[in-house]
Amino acid sequence: MESLIREKRFRSYPDGGIQVVYDLVIIGGGPAGLSAGIYAVRYGLNTLVLEKGFVSGQISTTGEVENYPGFTSISGMELMDKFSEHAKAAGVVVESRDVLDVRSEGELKVISTDSGDLETFSLIIATGASPRKLGVSGEDGFRGKGVSYCATCDGPFFKGKNVLVVGGGESAITDSLILSDLAASVCVVHRRDELRASKVLQDRAFAKPNIEFSWNTVLEEIIGDSVVREVILRNAISGETWTSPIDGIFIYVGVEPNTGFIDVEKDDYGFIVTDGKMATSKAGIFAAGDCRAGVLRQVITAASDGVIAAFEAYEYVSAMKHKGE
Ligand code: NAP
Repeated sequence: MESLIREKRFRSYPDGGIQVVYDLVIIGGGPAGLSAGIYAVRYGLNTLVLEKGFVSGQISTTGEVENYPGFTSISGMELMDKFSEHAKAAGVVVESRDVLDVRSEGELKVISTDSGDLETFSLIIATGASPRKLGVSGEDGFRGKGVSYCATCDGPFFKGKNVLVVGGGESAITDSLILSDLAASVCVVHRRDELRASKVLQDRAFAKPNIEFSWNTVLEEIIGDSVVREVILRNAISGETWTSPIDGIFIYVGVEPNTGFIDVEKDDYGFIVTDGKMATSKAGIFAAGDCRAGVLRQVITAASDGVIAAFEAYEYVSAMKHKGE
């Protein structure tokens, strides 16, 4: 494959200022963004990865990852450390910046960040998704005082205590298992009578003596003083409500995409719509990973998206640079 011109391109301004024009800027340093970065650097693209806080992604808050080939079992944090090390060794440059807005100026994309504008020929959005809120009374007020969205992060605070987990998906059951090794008891509150999580996780959770399930149950309200003390629960079928004392509540009711800053076509939930080449509705802007409308939200699918997006960005930039030759 033909390698792109490695030198950086520059844009001069009337006031004498000069700005680097990147071939590719990748927004997000999770599995999708770093995989895209590794491939983009190897294609010879002058690439920059922007990350809001530290490089990691949502997966770093996951306990054990058992479905990423090559690792029978590895913690989400450790897997991301390995992604990071690999990206660094490949020469991927990461800057910590908060992206505010993206606009097009001719063939360039201008990215406004909290520390100035950046210009690039192409862009990959790999900003992932964040835990969705349940939206019940007390959820916001008791966040960090008994309400959490991450057992890996906050589970140790509930050693020997009684906790509630809301949700029946992969995240809820993965984190219930983590919590069951720390807490005295874990009660999984699920709005239906069947879990969405994979069978292997279900079997493991059902076998744990200190995990119980409250089926067809919804969390109505979180009550406490300086910390959480109790919850009001409701049976979704009978409508019966009751109060239950509790020390901690872990909420896993899905995820919301971090896509508010970018104006491209999205689905009803805000996930970015792409074609099979990860191209969005705007030329030169690609999307990869959990922020993209797709069926699976796994580390491996995010990495795969990132690689496809990097290749397509390479093709796009290459065609642009050789236009008119
Ligand atoms: P999810 O699969 O969307 O599951 C959300 C759960 O919350 C469902 O059980 C849902 O109930 C319930 N729920 C949604 N809204 C609710 C509400 N308002 N009140 C009560 N319950 C509500 O979300 P997730 O578990 O966070 O997983 C997100 C994605 O990440 C999935 O694609 C998952 O496969 C992936 N993931 C991957 C890994 C891994 O690769 N190791 C680990 C974790 C997650 P219903 O079942 O009734 O809809």
